[in-house]
Amino acid sequence: MSVENNDQHYDVLVVGAGFAGLYLLHRLRAQGMRVKVFEAGDDVGGTWYWNRYPGARCDVESLEYSFSFSEELQQEWKWSERYAGQPEILRYLQHVADRFDLRRDVLFNTRVARARFSPARNEWTVNTEAGEQYRARYCVMATGNLSKASVPDIPGIESFKGRWFHTSAWPKEPVDFTGLRVGVVGTGSTGIQLVPRVAEQARHLYVFQRTANYCIPLRNGPQDAGIERDVKGRYAAVRKQARESPSGVAGFNVPTQSVLEVRPEEREAAFERRWNWGGIGLTRAFNDVLFNEESNRIASEYVKRKMREVVKDPKVADALTPTYPIGTKRLCADTGYFQAFNRDNVTLVDIRRSPIRAMGPHSVETGEATYEVDALIFATGFDAMTGTLLAIDIGVENGPTLRSLWADGPHAYLGLMVAGLPNLFMVTGPGSPSVLSNVVVSIEQHVEWITNCLAHMQERGLDHIEALADAQQTWGDHVNEVAGRSLLAKASSWYTGANIPGKPRGFIPYMGGVGAFRAHCDEVARNGYQGFALSTARQAQGSPA
Ligand code: NAP
Repeated sequence: MSVENNDQHYDVLVVGAGFAGLYLLHRLRAQGMRVKVFEAGDDVGGTWYWNRYPGARCDVESLEYSFSFSEELQQEWKWSERYAGQPEILRYLQHVADRFDLRRDVLFNTRVARARFSPARNEWTVNTEAGEQYRARYCVMATGNLSKASVPDIPGIESFKGRWFHTSAWPKEPVDFTGLRVGVVGTGSTGIQLVPRVAEQARHLYVFQRTANYCIPLRNGPQDAGIERDVKGRYAAVRKQARESPSGVAGFNVPTQSVLEVRPEEREAAFERRWNWGGIGLTRAFNDVLFNEESNRIASEYVKRKMREVVKDPKVADALTPTYPIGTKRLCADTGYFQAFNRDNVTLVDIRRSPIRAMGPHSVETGEATYEVDALIFATGFDAMTGTLLAIDIGVENGPTLRSLWADGPHAYLGLMVAGLPNLFMVTGPGSPSVLSNVVVSIEQHVEWITNCLAHMQERGLDHIEALADAQQTWGDHVNEVAGRSLLAKASSWYTGANIPGKPRGFIPYMGGVGAFRAHCDEVARNGYQGFALSTARQAQGSPA
């Protein structure tokens, strides 16, 4: 049943209560706007609410993977580890929600099914799956880049008698694998975190690997008190450096040299420093690892060699050795991943050579063998960046839908708006640095840009904004041109949509860097929101103002 009354009218409707939705709510409220946030989960947290699988952890350091908008918050919050685990990040976001009194405007357990813009009323109507209806002048999709799970369609899965899981829909209560035979499908960032933890419990663990990945040891540990003091003592400068950096991380120096212009022992030392420092910064030891095939080959060989030093069985080491250029799929950071394959209770199964064909009541079958399992975990990733948005039926009354506009792949201006869909914003949408960056930095940048834009409009009595098609096209061409210079655009990865059967192929995020992107967005705003048409609704409809 649709419910319509004045209580359901807002200035802004926000979809999602993760990092992006929470900060949007905080900012919009401060601007005096009436906001309602829809959240499918029963609590805040977004990604960090859903991804509760064993070993889930962020591979950006916590002192940087956190909000910068409140000095008190960043000074008072104490991270226990260098890289916080999922429970701690979720606690942090719960703390943020409580501290800024955000929960009262969030509708939990509420999934949005449809959003329609009415040109006549100049407003969005949002319908929830439960059949409720809400209206507002503006709508913001704060839905996250990695939230629509991809689960392989395996014949016979319905006959499986054990429990199966996707890592992003992990149960709240701990799952005990003690004594069980467990299968894990997928060896990306998630699988790599999960495997060592499950191996500690399971009677036997089968790791079904389609693509071997590069992993750098994370080298997590308790948060170093000296580093914390140092960062907190100059937090404003650290945050500024992060905002102006290529990847949204202050801790990485911007490389200036090519792999090819230094002597072999120098580059070995540079890689070694990064390796020992830990985490995903290794490809940033030089400026061309992601751009030059020979430089990339040298970096790839270095990491392969390091990995092989860990794995005792040479055949298993061969199977675990990646065959693609490093960094062209998301680099993984591990804690004991390769070591897990030295355990007697872990078996690597190569499903590139012989794919999974079917599942039985107690088994997974490849073309070569049948593996008896009591539980199966899919760490098979996401329909990234576009999947969550396209899952919602978004469109204009008697006009275009997002699905029609993106039939051949996503088109967006600065990852913020889609031409043809007025008054609808996205946070870290396609064509923005999003998943290539410390996403909290990118979220803050987009949220601040959107809220500043709405304040600008409010001050001028404007209530209608649209991205212009030609500006969107020019930006899209630039995104493609920058991606085309790198090796990433050539890879089969979720960056290009290659992991989802039938998804249009094309490099989705912006590779030009967080700092350059921010500067460009700021310039667009300074120049009167260049590439956007700002007006009153009456003007937009062609009536005299
Ligand atoms: P992912 O990187 O897409 O990895 C999915 C894995 O499942 C890949 O090994 C993939 O193989 C495999 N796979 C997918 N479909 C399959 C199928 N039908 N049959 C067999 N294997 C299949 O997903 P993810 O590991 O969940 O990570 C997604 C992103 O989330 C990461 O890249 C990262 O940005 C983020 N993340 C970050 C952290 C962290 O901060 N530490 C942790 C987890 C996730 P192919 O490679 O052959 O497709």
